[in-house]
Amino acid sequence: MNGPVPVEVLKQHLIDPEICIRCNTCEETCPIDAITHDENNYVVRADTCNGCMACISPCPTGAIDNWRDVLRAEAYPVDEQLTWDELPVQDDTLAGQGSIGEATEGAAGGGSTGGAESAEPVIGGSDLVRGSVVPPWSAAKPYVNLYNHKAPVQATVVGNYRVTDASTESDIHHIVLDFGKQPFPVLEGQSIGIIAPGTTADGRAHHARQYSIASPRDGERPGYNNLALTVKRVTKDHHGQAVGGVCSNYLCDLKKGDVVNVMGPFGSTFLMPNHADSHLLMICTGTGAAPMRAMTEYRRRRRMKGATGKLMLFFGARTQGELPYFGPLLNLPKDFIDTNLAFSRTPGQPKRYVQDAMRERAADVAALLRHDHTYIYVCGLKGMEDGVLQVLQTIAGEAGLDWPSLWQRMKTEGRLHLETY
Ligand SMILES: Cc1cc2nc3c(=O)[nH]c(=O)nc-3n(C[C@H](O)[C@H](O)[C@H](O)COP(=O)(O)OP(=O)(O)OC[C@H]3O[C@@H](n4cnc5c(N)ncnc54)[C@H](O)[C@@H]3O)c2cc1C
Ligand code: SF4
Ligand code: SF4
Repeated sequence: MNGPVPVEVLKQHLIDPEICIRCNTCEETCPIDAITHDENNYVVRADTCNGCMACISPCPTGAIDNWRDVLRAEAYPVDEQLTWDELPVQDDTLAGQGSIGEATEGAAGGGSTGGAESAEPVIGGSDLVRGSVVPPWSAAKPYVNLYNHKAPVQATVVGNYRVTDASTESDIHHIVLDFGKQPFPVLEGQSIGIIAPGTTADGRAHHARQYSIASPRDGERPGYNNLALTVKRVTKDHHGQAVGGVCSNYLCDLKKGDVVNVMGPFGSTFLMPNHADSHLLMICTGTGAAPMRAMTEYRRRRRMKGATGKLMLFFGARTQGELPYFGPLLNLPKDFIDTNLAFSRTPGQPKRYVQDAMRERAADVAALLRHDHTYIYVCGLKGMEDGVLQVLQTIAGEAGLDWPSLWQRMKTEGRLHLETY
């Protein structure tokens, strides 16, 4: 006689829609396409996710690290998850009984398959993750998620001005937010979430948008509890169609004294090393300059206190007028930062991208690649990642370095950080 059929309890991987800032990082990271999204939510397919954990560390908010023990036959389907405004509560009768199941066997990307809130991060990350998912060893410990969308912190606008030439189409603003007496500790490389007021066409509150912090940990103005953002006004979508980006337009139109709802801070890996002889190789385009500005300014303030590592910057824009912070950047002493600019649309000039500038400086880039204390940061347009990794491979190869093993080592040691959007 057959015994009772065992009831299988699944530890279902879910994303918290209240915390998620829809940054797409998890979807890009998942090696087996278990994550999908619509205009409302990011969700995990229960029948695909194998619990490899590759997505956990890269998620800036922790929204990804949620698990519910459910009967496998009653796992929440994608269509239902897409409608959620908050996570369902755990059924107490099933709590603690779930396992990720047989799909865990052969999980891509390695790492813990334990699931649940206690999951260990994947050290070094999946082979399919291109950058580090751990911070530099000497990075300061970041605070994350001090404020969420249910309980945001209010910041006051104390500055908002354009940092691209008025004659160009590219309207990028430098916006300074002051937190007054409310705690908002940040590190260079972290980002914050901004919640624009109002609702979407179907009446839902706008989800937060993420913006990199452009100022050092001790404030845009040293000793003040404020920070700066570098925000590009979105007036066209990725296909060139006219569109009014909700949050970027809200931010660029803010006036001094306006009050803004802020979430965060976010990010625990794209951080700068704190040891004085560490070198920074920074490669950015457009608003990707924000974290580089923060790191550079922190180093500039520490310079007199013995920071000796080199700073090398490759910065790309369509034209000089579209490059944010062009003037202040050129005022930085040459013996402090080695700045290399690349413009892709200067009339009468051949197109030049950051990769071209890097190739021209191959010997100096290779010297940095050889050094165990070199940390690479790439930030800006999504499309730049392939080209930058390709040119690093070429430069390393020509210098007799084994790029695949160096790349792997830099990832594992928290020395190769990619943030493109
Ligand atoms: C890790 C991270 C860091 C970021 N840091 C910054 C930063 O420092 N500065 C900054 O300005 N932005 C930054 N962003 C982008 C920012 O979060 C928003 O996506 C951006 O401001 C657009 O939001 P929106 O509400 O104005 O547009 P939405 O209303 O969200 O979008 C309107 C339309 O425009 C399209 N769209 C969205 N963004 C762009 C774009 N950049 N170019 C063309 N079309 C677009 C959308 O697909 C949509 O069709 C970052 C994003 C991430 C993930
Ligand atoms: S916040 Fe986390 S869960 Fe949400 S889209 Fe970004 S990586 Fe994914
Ligand atoms: S745990 Fe692994 S398989 Fe599941 S969503 Fe995250 S990256 Fe994808």
